[in-house]
Amino acid sequence: MDLAKLRNIGILAHIDAGKTTLTERILFTTGVSWRMGEVDDGTAVMDWMEQEQERGITITSAATRVRWKDHALNIIDTPGHVDFTIEVERSLRVLDACIVVFSAVEGVQPQSETVWRQADAHGVPRLAFVNKMDRVGANYEAAIGQIRDELNSPAVAFQVPAFEADEFVGAVDLLRMELVTHGDDVHRVLDSRAPVPEHLADEAWLARQLLLEAIADTDDTLYEMLLEGQEITTDRLVASAREAVLAGDLVPVLCGSAFRNKGVQPLLDAVAELLPSPLDRPPIDEDHPPSADAPFAALAFKVQADPQGLLTFLRVYSGSVTIGDDVVNARTGRRVRLGRLYRMHAMEREELRTITAGDIVAAMGVKDTSTGDTLRSPRSAVRLETIRCPEPVLFVSVVPNTAEDQMRLSESLSRLRDEDPTLQVRRDTETGQTILCGMGELHLEIASTRLEREFEVRARFGRPQVAYREAILGSAAGVGLVDRKIGPKGFYARVAVEIEEGEGITHDELAIGGEHLRAAEAGVVERLQRGQRAGFPVHGVAVRIVDLDESAVDSSPAAFRLAGGLAVGDALTKAGVRVEEPLMRVEVSVPDDYVGGVVGDLNSRRGRVSDITARAGRQTLVAEVPLAAMFGYATSLRSLTQGRAAYTMVLARYAPMPEALCSRVFGSG
Ligand code: GDP
Repeated sequence: MDLAKLRNIGILAHIDAGKTTLTERILFTTGVSWRMGEVDDGTAVMDWMEQEQERGITITSAATRVRWKDHALNIIDTPGHVDFTIEVERSLRVLDACIVVFSAVEGVQPQSETVWRQADAHGVPRLAFVNKMDRVGANYEAAIGQIRDELNSPAVAFQVPAFEADEFVGAVDLLRMELVTHGDDVHRVLDSRAPVPEHLADEAWLARQLLLEAIADTDDTLYEMLLEGQEITTDRLVASAREAVLAGDLVPVLCGSAFRNKGVQPLLDAVAELLPSPLDRPPIDEDHPPSADAPFAALAFKVQADPQGLLTFLRVYSGSVTIGDDVVNARTGRRVRLGRLYRMHAMEREELRTITAGDIVAAMGVKDTSTGDTLRSPRSAVRLETIRCPEPVLFVSVVPNTAEDQMRLSESLSRLRDEDPTLQVRRDTETGQTILCGMGELHLEIASTRLEREFEVRARFGRPQVAYREAILGSAAGVGLVDRKIGPKGFYARVAVEIEEGEGITHDELAIGGEHLRAAEAGVVERLQRGQRAGFPVHGVAVRIVDLDESAVDSSPAAFRLAGGLAVGDALTKAGVRVEEPLMRVEVSVPDDYVGGVVGDLNSRRGRVSDITARAGRQTLVAEVPLAAMFGYATSLRSLTQGRAAYTMVLARYAPMPEALCSRVFGSG
């Protein structure tokens, strides 16, 4: 494989901008026999899941290989819902470049802004595709203006759209000054190219001048050539534009209609022509260049259940391995065998013997490897930065119907966790219930539905609840004493602690150590997990064990564990505890007419609007709203705005809950 001709790309978008439709068209255009399905939006979970399954590729594979002319493209899947920012984050880690899809009608939307910033943070070169050019109200120039101003990016038109009798037919390629069109019903036929028609000549010429200037701004030699009036070949222009795109100094904007299959081929051409290959990207370090001879290093970026077993998707950064070779999991230090290796295509998988730097492949049956793990050659010491997980803010309780379901639940949860590290599982120490923590309502609903459907766990799922926290109001000391007789056996232990704001558990120089100290510490941790005021974990507290006392005959780890918990409980009571709740940063994009209603609704949810920006008939509101007040927001926003608004939500911070509310919810402290 010629690495220079490989592209690892992702497609990012605000929900509904047309990412799925575009992905399907790309698969279709690149020759994958794929029915051109129409995508309809549904909001219910089952709809979502079934739809994703129908859409096939977007859910069945984390990466899909297609060919376009003499290039190979790995298309990395990026789910679009806000609850799944981890998916975007992890795909940004492994792709070399991306296409960001915008709607020509809606322009820059909250989620497109979020993904754009994420791509900025990862330094990912990108193209912008302004989709839905066939729709009434499509405005290419306005979209470019927004991409430039609101996303603060060097966006420049590489095309000018062409219309016939108000209907979108294609676009002028400004690099070559040709009109590119695609017939309406002719599938899998190459676009036709023609000279720029008369009525577009002026507009196209002007746009080309702007493009030339933008490219020349990043290339001194080209600038001089232009000044001297020299003829500039297309190849020269492309080479220069490519450099600028790779450096992040230029974002080419193209347009089209995925739905009408227009603009897809020029987009693929641009991917091949303007986006980086793995060779163009900075290596992970000096010892691991993207070459087959370097020591092997790969990131497991997705673990996915498959009917035939567990598939672990790998981005190989350097070196190569062949089937049967051992590699090491950098997190566990254990050797891992790569038994079967595949390249995933949309409809089939191809067995591989060797995998090499730059590529994205799947390995079957890799043991003890989770999302974010580094696999490396035994002679390498590299450890790739793991994938950052945002903190889960909601949870549900799960009560299995039978003992058999309980067993299946534990197994299934560990499978789900391997796939999705933002899903956290813990056990409520008081009730013994299994608690599932996640990023949002939809996230938890999907996890629950998968447990029921895919893993056949029969259980009762509680309602999603907010993951509150507790925090201490000040410093205090506490003592825990256990001194009792049960039958002939005595239990004795005494633990003294001091708590203050901070983190972690420490101890003074103590006469007693070993398992008794460890048991006391375990008791402390358990007690902090249980909370004081409302049953939520106490955060931001530093515990120092200042004294341990035992009796020669009656002390045991069990007694110290109990005493450790009692000591912290005593200290928490003395210090006083408050409840903190997650405050979300909510961004709503809403047409002018509905702003009043949306703001009023946010206020009634204890929200505080901190910023409003207006542009062309729409406003973007930024507010901080307690998560507890955001249940069902999607539905209520839809009915308030007749479905014309969109929002995103991420955790901003934890903040003290108003005392009156706290008493109402949890009873008086
Ligand atoms: P995603 O949420 O970004 O994956 O968007 P989808 O691909 O599911 O598209 C959302 C909706 O927009 C669907 O109803 C599509 O049929 C429609 N759509 C997508 N692309 C176009 C387009 O180019 N033109 C028009 N008119 N509709 C489109």
